[in-house]
Amino acid sequence: LFSLERLLMAKLMGWEDTILALATPPGIGAIGVIRLSGKNAITIVNELFPSKNLLQQATHTLHVGFLKSNIEVLDEVVVALYKNPKSYTGEDVVEISCHGSPFIQEKILQTIIQNGCRIAKPGEFTQRAFLNGKLDLTQAEAVADLIASNTEASRNAALQNIRGGFSNILSVLREELIKFSALIELELDFSEEDVAFADRKQLNELIQKLQGTTAILLQSFSLGNVIKNGVQVAIIGKPNAGKSTLLNTLLNENRAIVSEIAGTTRDTIEEVLNIDGILFRLIDTAGIRNQTDDVIESIGVQRSYDTMAKADIVLYLFDVNTTSSEDLMTAINEFESKQLKYILVGNKVDEEDNLFHKKYLNVSDILFISAKENRAVNKVKQHLFAEAVQGNINQEATIITNARHYEALQKLAVSLLEIEQGLSNNIASDLIALDIRQALHFLGEITGEITNEDQLDYIFSKFCIGK
Ligand code: GDP
Repeated sequence: LFSLERLLMAKLMGWEDTILALATPPGIGAIGVIRLSGKNAITIVNELFPSKNLLQQATHTLHVGFLKSNIEVLDEVVVALYKNPKSYTGEDVVEISCHGSPFIQEKILQTIIQNGCRIAKPGEFTQRAFLNGKLDLTQAEAVADLIASNTEASRNAALQNIRGGFSNILSVLREELIKFSALIELELDFSEEDVAFADRKQLNELIQKLQGTTAILLQSFSLGNVIKNGVQVAIIGKPNAGKSTLLNTLLNENRAIVSEIAGTTRDTIEEVLNIDGILFRLIDTAGIRNQTDDVIESIGVQRSYDTMAKADIVLYLFDVNTTSSEDLMTAINEFESKQLKYILVGNKVDEEDNLFHKKYLNVSDILFISAKENRAVNKVKQHLFAEAVQGNINQEATIITNARHYEALQKLAVSLLEIEQGLSNNIASDLIALDIRQALHFLGEITGEITNEDQLDYIFSKFCIGK
């Protein structure tokens, strides 16, 4: 049924067209790749490729030759053929590797367009792969995540989901639930006779299983978010505590190379640190340290409230030579009353003898460092990492990184609870059937069995062109 639905949607979305796009980044490179997909892909390229009849070539083969527009030679290229259904999109796909000059690429694109092809919309190749049943929706979304991934951890999470990840788990459970749904619907046809085709005990077990899976997936979202979007850390402390020094020491070793992190606005100055594959965005409070506010000046928090509120973790840095244990307690109370996650770092231990250990006996979990001499700064990193992932990151686990999935899972959890309660209250079959339909709907939304055109357009519009 669902493939019929997809087919219908495909028709609506201009599936008949053959599409093309530059698959490599614009600009000069060694090679540029132009990709076509659609039923006329091979015919169109064949008309520009006089040295061989591409229509007669086997799938998954490469062909070198000149690309010509009438008598004008456009470039010498390599053409790769992927015939349907064994291609990325499931349609006929042709990839032309040309020389990486923007001028040549543009010329080839224009010539092909004149021959009956149109420029693909962002994500349209992947969208077609989805519509042709090559990928489910979570896998398609994972393709976008993989392209956007900028750390080891985000790459792993995306790869896991491309391979099927949690949608496999959910599909299996969904199928079992469909079976029950069918049996219960059957009962409705025999309602006079008061028969039960669907074993309530088994149904209950299945619901428990689904609830378990859903709960685990929902829990994984906070970690997923950390992996995908990184962790905001605010370094807070009095002037001269050593914040800039610490920032520099941290960054000297681990400054991350980042392109763009999804969902971030750069309204504050941030430095990005890569600790074991997780990106930590250190909010630079150095710039706001001079604007003091009497009330909170005592703990050196100054105008950092906004920064703190935005942060996932507050790193409170204090000078062990000048900070009393009372000062420290004031800061701690402040953080706790605001329910912030914080770590306490005592700096400049190189200037003190060992007295500082005794000074803060009533406070546990202080990291003592010297930012200037790079002493124990590694411990700061370890703590940040531990705080962020809470000790449960492993590559095998399935992790939700997508807000759309999270939302659908939340709704799923609610409808599962309704089924569970309905079963324990022995409610009528028709009501249970309704609840099950509801749960199936949310399950289907995640994997894409149930979608609408707007939603698909939205999802795929976030891709880059050519993918
Ligand atoms: P900020 O105002 O919190 O950013 O503090 P800075 O990083 O500018 O440091 C203030 C002063 O403390 C500078 O003179 C630093 O060299 C010094 N400082 C920073 N960290 C240490 C440290 O670990 N040990 C010592 N002895 N001095 C430090």
